[in-house]
Amino acid sequence: MKQGMRRMVGAAAVALAASLALAPAASADPPFVPEGKGPGLPVAAQPLVGVRIAVDPGHDGGRAEDPEAANRPVPDGRGDRVACNTTGATSGDGYSEHEFAFEVGEQLATQLDQLGAQVWMTRTDDEGIGPCVDRRGTFAEDNDVDLMLSIHASSAEDEDAPGFVAVVAGPPLSDSQGAPSHELAHSLVQALEDAGFTANQDAQDPVVERSDDATLNFARRPAVLLELGQLHNPEEAEMMRSEEGQQRYVEALTEGVITWVREHR
Ligand SMILES: [Zn+2]
Repeated sequence: MKQGMRRMVGAAAVALAASLALAPAASADPPFVPEGKGPGLPVAAQPLVGVRIAVDPGHDGGRAEDPEAANRPVPDGRGDRVACNTTGATSGDGYSEHEFAFEVGEQLATQLDQLGAQVWMTRTDDEGIGPCVDRRGTFAEDNDVDLMLSIHASSAEDEDAPGFVAVVAGPPLSDSQGAPSHELAHSLVQALEDAGFTANQDAQDPVVERSDDATLNFARRPAVLLELGQLHNPEEAEMMRSEEGQQRYVEALTEGVITWVREHR
């Protein structure tokens, strides 16, 4: 019975993802449940029971299919407009940010689900253009989540310094963008450092405030965008592409979420 339900919910999530590009998410969206996974861990080993989490794998895989839709201007949340979506950065050997974000995002969603959380993904495949960046922000409130993680890689064209950065909206436009998002960012940074990842040395602080990210600007729940590594740095890109590297990211982010949840319940 439970397995049947899980499969149905997974199929509904795929259908939902297909509709997201066109219509606003309804508040009653079913959570994403990764398909083909066994039942979660015993309840005693599920520290995230009752926690609602949005995972946003940044960018999209299908820009070339519909460049007009991908370029459509949408509000950035601070009075300007930005393109609906982009494919993001690409490594020297052709590994792209949208693939990385999706691969890590999907594994993270699976892991959080196994630990008892209800997880919603802004996109559940790496095809098409997915929801625009503004809608990825409102997705958090639409699904009434407790927190949102947006998965990215560093994309600055002119630098290749390795390391991660955690980004929050700033100056804050809502209470959730203040202390709750900063505290979530610090938990994630601590967990990434504990797992052996290093922060980008060019950044003054591993937690950076940015005003130009529409997804963060529109989020009304604690939200952090993680630029997990620099695809223009060949060594780091190789690690980011590897199964082992991605698993380490997933474990670290999960630890960061667990720490924040413990401190906020
Ligand atoms: Zn990005």
